[in-house]
Amino acid sequence: MGKKGTEIVRTDVKKLLELLNTALADEWLAYYQYWMGAKVVKGPMRDAVVAELEEHAKEELEHADRFAERIIQLGGTPLLRPEEWYKATHCGYEAPEDPFVAAILKQNLEGERCAIDFYRSLLETVKDKDPITFHMVAEVLGDEVEHEEDIENMLEDIELIKKVR
Ligand code: FE
Ligand code: FE
Ligand code: MG
Repeated sequence: MGKKGTEIVRTDVKKLLELLNTALADEWLAYYQYWMGAKVVKGPMRDAVVAELEEHAKEELEHADRFAERIIQLGGTPLLRPEEWYKATHCGYEAPEDPFVAAILKQNLEGERCAIDFYRSLLETVKDKDPITFHMVAEVLGDEVEHEEDIENMLEDIELIKKVR
């Protein structure tokens, strides 16, 4: 951990580390939800949906990586055990029990909307207090906004297929 780098954080670092670990848990669960969704999904536009789910999975894993690195940089410990994810998570995990494309996409859409709310409020918490975390979270939020739109577009296309018939 960087001594000066941590000193310049003008907010309760312990509380911030908890929030960052919540984000870390959310990102791992989002990663797994997308990754598993891509395996089991069935229905119209399957290949396009699989490609998008796999891409989002990869991006959620990159987010997890960034949160873990920032936690360590601030002298904290990233959640070391998967069983801690469920205790720390804010957005949770929705098992893809219904493999139909629209069902999986709707579950992921809820997850993205939850993430957008969570990161918006995390930005408020660190604004003017921790520019490094602010910048990182703003970039992650930008990805989640893209994810939401990608999913909305796919759901829209699936609805259009129904109208054609
Ligand atoms: Fe993410
Ligand atoms: Fe996302
Ligand atoms: Mg995408």
